[in-house]
Amino acid sequence: MRQLHDLVRPNIWRLAPYSSARSEYSGHEAHVFLDANENPYNTLLNRYPDPLQTEVKQRLSKYKQVPPECIFLGNGSDEAIDLVYRIFCRPQVDNVVAIEPTYGMYKVCADINDVAYKPVLLDEHYQLNADRLLAACDKHTKVVWLCSPNNPSGNNLQVTEVEKVLSRFDGIIVIDEAYSDFSTVPTFRRRLAEFPNLIVLNTMSKAWGCAAIRLGMAFADKEIIGLFNKVKYPYNVNQLTQRQALEELDNIEAVEKWVSLILLERKRMLQAFKELPVCKEVFPTDANFFLARMTDAQGIYDYLVGKGIIVRNRTHIKLCNDCLRVTIGTKTENAELLSALREMQA
Ligand SMILES: *Cc1c(COP(=O)(O)O)cnc(C)c1O
Repeated sequence: MRQLHDLVRPNIWRLAPYSSARSEYSGHEAHVFLDANENPYNTLLNRYPDPLQTEVKQRLSKYKQVPPECIFLGNGSDEAIDLVYRIFCRPQVDNVVAIEPTYGMYKVCADINDVAYKPVLLDEHYQLNADRLLAACDKHTKVVWLCSPNNPSGNNLQVTEVEKVLSRFDGIIVIDEAYSDFSTVPTFRRRLAEFPNLIVLNTMSKAWGCAAIRLGMAFADKEIIGLFNKVKYPYNVNQLTQRQALEELDNIEAVEKWVSLILLERKRMLQAFKELPVCKEVFPTDANFFLARMTDAQGIYDYLVGKGIIVRNRTHIKLCNDCLRVTIGTKTENAELLSALREMQA
């Protein structure tokens, strides 16, 4: 790995972060707070939230088996994705390399930050070839984006190929594991000590059923997390979200129950799609959705919209010609989709 100092934008390395009122005192038990120009009334909401979300991180630390100082929490994983660019990539100078097809935000954030984005096509099974990916990297490549299980294909990237990238690329490697709760493959989150240049992303938006609260996580070496903390907005995760996250963490059995229900339904849906005359191929999935190649994705998409059923049309994405991406819903929702598709042939 290149030294962290050589990977970080010089202005960020030098940056003196904003010092918030609440982070300047520590170590004392305080009960009169006249430091932050807050209103003393309206007492459930009047105080600024903990800028470092200490309680949430302590709870997450136990569940995720990562020390609190190796955790960053953000306004969705999308905040963490944007911060990676703002910390490491000099606009118009540095570049990033990513698998293709994959989650759209890596490219959008590259464009916003004026950083060149170099996609490297997966193979026809949506698998990563480490040699081809590494061949696309040059001395200005700061970051490699991997997503596993990948969106929109649904599959895990092969561990041996990911390991090759981790051991040979000398910049930052992000593995977005937004869907790992649905997968049985061991997470790279457990291997942070082995790879100081690794950032793993998780989210509460999928398996945790909390897309509305906007809580994303990044796990990395504590020096990298220190940079995230320096660059983020001081109060990036609001009090309502922190409180709700703690409640969800008290109810992990619910998450586990949802995941097993979704996995059962996933099995049923994959089988049912294979038998549909309008479906040509169903791709293997480790996520709460699957990709299916249809006879005519656009026509089927439009037909379903007409019935008030929305799936994701991926036909214009590379390697996804005539593909629809279908999220696993409730038993009733899935049944409604299936009967609409079966009617098509009638
Ligand atoms: C849905 C999704 C996310 C979640 O983003 P949030 O901002 O946390 O809601 C992240 N990465 C991938 C690949 C996704 O599909």
